[in-house]
Amino acid sequence: MDATRLYEISQKHMWLPFTQMKDYEEAPLIIESGEGIVLRDIYGNEYLDGYSSLWLNVHGHRRPEINQAIKEQLEKIAHSTLLGAANVPSIQLAEKLIEISPDNLTRVFYSDSGAESVEIAIKMAYQYWQNKGKEKKTKFVTLANGYHGDTVGAISVGSIDIYHRVYSALMFDSFAVPFPSASWHPSGDGQTAKEESLAAMQTLFKESHNEIAGLVVESMVQGAGGMHIMPPGYLKELERLCRAFNILLIVDEVATGFGRTGKMFAVEHEDVAPDIMTVAKGITGGYLPIAATLTTEEVYAAFYGDYAEMKTFFHGHSYTGNQLGCAAALANLDIFEKEEVVKQAAEKAEYIAKLLAEIAELPHVGEVRQLGFMCGIEVVKDRTTKEPFPSEERVAYRATLRMRELGMLTRPLGDVIVFMPPLVSSYEQLTRMAGIMKQAMLEIADSPVV
Ligand code: PLP
Repeated sequence: MDATRLYEISQKHMWLPFTQMKDYEEAPLIIESGEGIVLRDIYGNEYLDGYSSLWLNVHGHRRPEINQAIKEQLEKIAHSTLLGAANVPSIQLAEKLIEISPDNLTRVFYSDSGAESVEIAIKMAYQYWQNKGKEKKTKFVTLANGYHGDTVGAISVGSIDIYHRVYSALMFDSFAVPFPSASWHPSGDGQTAKEESLAAMQTLFKESHNEIAGLVVESMVQGAGGMHIMPPGYLKELERLCRAFNILLIVDEVATGFGRTGKMFAVEHEDVAPDIMTVAKGITGGYLPIAATLTTEEVYAAFYGDYAEMKTFFHGHSYTGNQLGCAAALANLDIFEKEEVVKQAAEKAEYIAKLLAEIAELPHVGEVRQLGFMCGIEVVKDRTTKEPFPSEERVAYRATLRMRELGMLTRPLGDVIVFMPPLVSSYEQLTRMAGIMKQAMLEIADSPVV
């Protein structure tokens, strides 16, 4: 099908996720192929993948080893259900995931997306306490500004404003404790923000631990909330409080897992052992939709018994544990091991920090935040007062459109420009992407609204 026809059909029949279609009409993009960290559209234009195709892609597009693993699996079988019957690559992947995750985690429950892995975590924690005879423990605690996916359960434990404005009547209530960010705290002091957040958490736990099933937090970095990083020691303290008050610690590694923060999982920064851990995105290197919820033997054991006891975990979808996805994930993890990807990413992250330090000096940059390959650049009207641009000007969005013209793709989060390239990006590619971001931000911030 030629490019014109593809374009016409996309305008007529497509409805893209999380996209205002008027925006898409004005700035359409249709990807046809990719290689390494480069994506190519139907007109032959090339773009550096500055957001890893939504934070997924790790080793680049069309990695021969992953392609080959999928082809080999195709020759055996594409899919059979995981309901009541395991399959070969899902078993092999479970072993691998347990090997690389915190030592206390022993069980793998598969799903198809990050949001679903969180839905599962919530349902699992809820039912865990029911199965143990603690019927009152039904509530969840979260951190303000958190994001855990866009399904109804996941938005109920998230606090991104748009969901609460649009879907509130569908959602269940959760407790939200302030995230310890120096930039939001009136004192501007990170230590005070941390102490106050922990004190609020402790008070809440003390008063309501009999009702609280679990604490759900993103691991070290609030991604979709704008790349806000937890201060050192904070996550470890949350772990301690959860243990002290008998509350399950649910850590969401959907965005941070698989090397993204310079460790295989971000919990390793604080040596934290969650009761439940969710993973997705980078698990298949950005190839196929596999996610997983990992948990301890203690949690698993609460679901084990005769069917009539109603302890079974009631969750599972048609494509859960798909063989092609699991085969891709195994090949992906193999590359991690063979090429010491995490170690190299940690080294490259130091170089990214240098590039970002230059961007931090630009006239309309309020703050630059980074942990490993997870970076956010906050665009402001006034860098001294941190006054934002009026939201209707959509400066960060316009900057990303300009970056597209200059040959790099990314997506903004409100006023924050995301920079999350594949971990295999070369030093030269990182430099080029930083150059594009710099140019676009210099040009766009002062130009009139389009
Ligand atoms: N949890 C976190 C921390 C995320 O960042 C995301 C997506 O960005 C999700 C969950 C949802 O993942 P998915 O888009 O695969 O449903």
